[in-house]
Amino acid sequence: MNMQTDIKAKLALAGIGPTKQRLALAELIFREHDRHFNADELFTESVRAGCGVSLATIYNTLKTFCDTGLLREVVVDATRTYYDTNASRHHHFYAAETGTLIDIAGQGVVLAKLPAAPEGMTITDYEVMIHVTRK
Ligand SMILES: [Zn+2]
Repeated sequence: MNMQTDIKAKLALAGIGPTKQRLALAELIFREHDRHFNADELFTESVRAGCGVSLATIYNTLKTFCDTGLLREVVVDATRTYYDTNASRHHHFYAAETGTLIDIAGQGVVLAKLPAAPEGMTITDYEVMIHVTRK
């Protein structure tokens, strides 16, 4: 299966209509496994690749891909949101100096106990972010 067939199948499986712009962005996003990036980086790549999409389209597409489980959103703080092509639950190291997310492999984090969810709520997901800096 070539990359474009693969990407089309991936979008179809997620129930996403294969518009030209979505296909172009999906090709950029999923050409590497386990990749972390932010919207600005994707925008720069899309300009370089001649996709001709606006930053608004980038944000809309990223939201669609997150809503349908193709991507995972990783919010570091109010000004920094990253997107992760590994949409399964995993944890991260975050190096603020370089703005880099690094996957924590396998069972690297073991939580002995989760708190009870607030009244009337249930826990649907959780993730651990460990902040690191150069020694
Ligand atoms: Zn990750």
